[in-house]
Amino acid sequence: MTGNSKLTDVGRRPPSALREPSPREEGEEIAIVGGGIIGICAAAFLAEAGRSVTIFDRTGICEETSSGNAAAFAFSDVLPLAHKGMIKNLPKWLADPLGPLSIPPAYLPKLLPWLIRFWRAGAPAKYEASLAAQAGMMKLAEAEWMDMLDRSGTRPMLREDGSLELYESEAEFRAGLVGWSARQRFGIGFRHVGGEELARLQPGLSPRFVKGTFVPGWKTVADPKLLGKAIWAYAEAKGARFEKALISQVAADQDGVTLTLADGTTRQAMHLVVAAGAWSHLLARQLGDRIPLETERGYNTTLPKDAFDVQRQLIFSGHGFVITPLETGLRVGGAVELGGIERPPNYNRSKALLQKAQKFLPGLDPSGGREWMGFRPSLPDSVPVIGKASGSRPVVYAFGHGHLGLTQAAATGRLIRELVLGQTPSVDLAPFSPQRF
Ligand SMILES: Cc1cc2nc3c(=O)[nH]c(=O)nc-3n(C[C@H](O)[C@H](O)[C@H](O)COP(=O)(O)OP(=O)(O)OC[C@H]3O[C@@H](n4cnc5c(N)ncnc54)[C@H](O)[C@@H]3O)c2cc1C
Repeated sequence: MTGNSKLTDVGRRPPSALREPSPREEGEEIAIVGGGIIGICAAAFLAEAGRSVTIFDRTGICEETSSGNAAAFAFSDVLPLAHKGMIKNLPKWLADPLGPLSIPPAYLPKLLPWLIRFWRAGAPAKYEASLAAQAGMMKLAEAEWMDMLDRSGTRPMLREDGSLELYESEAEFRAGLVGWSARQRFGIGFRHVGGEELARLQPGLSPRFVKGTFVPGWKTVADPKLLGKAIWAYAEAKGARFEKALISQVAADQDGVTLTLADGTTRQAMHLVVAAGAWSHLLARQLGDRIPLETERGYNTTLPKDAFDVQRQLIFSGHGFVITPLETGLRVGGAVELGGIERPPNYNRSKALLQKAQKFLPGLDPSGGREWMGFRPSLPDSVPVIGKASGSRPVVYAFGHGHLGLTQAAATGRLIRELVLGQTPSVDLAPFSPQRF
C-alpha cells in the first residue's frame, strides 16, 4: 500500500521526449477516489477484469468509516429509513440528546433541505419504490459477497449465526410486524421467538425483553477492517495500486479525467470512480452534479472479547443500537447523529449506548473499551447513488450506502465494473441514478 501509482504525474512530468504514453493515450487507466469498502470492492472487480486501477485515499485502505462499523452483512435489511413508523418516533427520540437520533441545533438550518427530502421519501409510493430497489440490490449483494469471499479466500471471516432483534413490550413487537410482513414479501426468512427459545438464543438477557425476532440468514464478519484489508490484499494481487493522497480537485471531459492532489501535482486517467463516502458530494459538485448527501454519524465502543458471551448480533431497534461479537472484541453501538462532516465527535453518545447495554445484558463488563465514530454517507431515500455523472463524462459515482455500505459493497463493485466497461448492469440502475434528485 505504498504510493506506487503509475498514473501520469503531470506536476512532475519529464520532458516530453522521455514521457511515457499517458493513461488517456493507453486508454485503460481507472482512478478511484476513496479506499473504503466501496472503493476497495470496485478496485477488486476492475482488477479482476484485467483493468489497470489505482485507489487514492487521504488516510489509507479501510481506515475510516469502513473500519469500525457493526460488521453486519444485513441482507434482510431492505426497509428504507423514512417510513411512517420511524417518523412517528422522531419527537420522542429527538427529546433525548443522547438518544438513538440527535441533531445538534446549530446544524439544523443546514440539514433542513435534506430532512424535507427524507420526509417526502416516506410517502407510500416513494417508499415502495425504494423498498423494491433495495430488495433487488440485496439479492445481488448476497450473491456477490459470497462469490467474492470465495475468490479472495476470505470466507473463514464470515459468521453465519443470524441476528436476534429484541423487544421490550408486546406493543413494540406489534409495531414492528408491518416491517416484517414487508420483508416476507421479498422472501426474507425470520422467526418470532419468546420464552425458552429467546433465552436459548441469548443466555443472560435482561428479563425486560419479552419477545424477539430471529433472522437466520443474517451474517456478520470477523472484523470489518480486517475484511477490508484482506479484500484489498486480493485486489492488489490482481494488480490494483494505492496512492496516499488527498484529492482536492477533480475535472473531467469526454476524453478523461484530471485529479489535482493537495500537493498541487496532478494525475490523469481514462475513468474516475468517486467512492469517497460522506465526502463524495464535494467532488461531485466540482463536476457540476449536486447530490443531497448527508452524514448519519454513528458511535460505538469495542470492548475486550470476553466482556460478555454474545451468541450472535443483538439488535435493539427501539434504542437504535446493536451488539456484535467480533473476532477482535465485542462492539456495542449505532445511533444516528445528523451533525455534518466538520463537528468533532461527542463520545458521550458511545458512553450512553454502553450504559444501556449494561442494563440489557446484566453482567456485561464495560471496562477496557475503545470508542469510535464513523460517518455513514446517507441519501434521503436510503438508496445509494450508483451511476454515471451527468454530461457523458467517464465518471461513475458509488456512494451514499448509509447503514449498509459493508453489506452492499461487493454488489456495488460489480455494478461499477459493469458501468465502467459499458456492460449491461446486473440490476436496473434507474432507482440508483445520481440524477434522480
Ligand atoms: C456505527 C456504524 C455502524 C455501521 N454498521 C454497518 C453494518 O453493520 N453493516 C453495513 O453494511 N454497514 C454498516 N455501516 C455503514 C458502513 O460503515 C458505511 O456505509 C460504509 O463504511 C461506507 O463505505 P464507503 O467506502 O462509502 O466510505 P468510507 O469508508 O468513509 O470511505 C471513503 C474514503 O474516502 C476517503 N476520501 C474522502 N474524500 C477524499 C478525498 N477528497 N481525497 C482522498 N480521499 C478521500 C476517506 O478518507 C475514506 O477513507 C455502519 C456505519 C456506522 C457509522
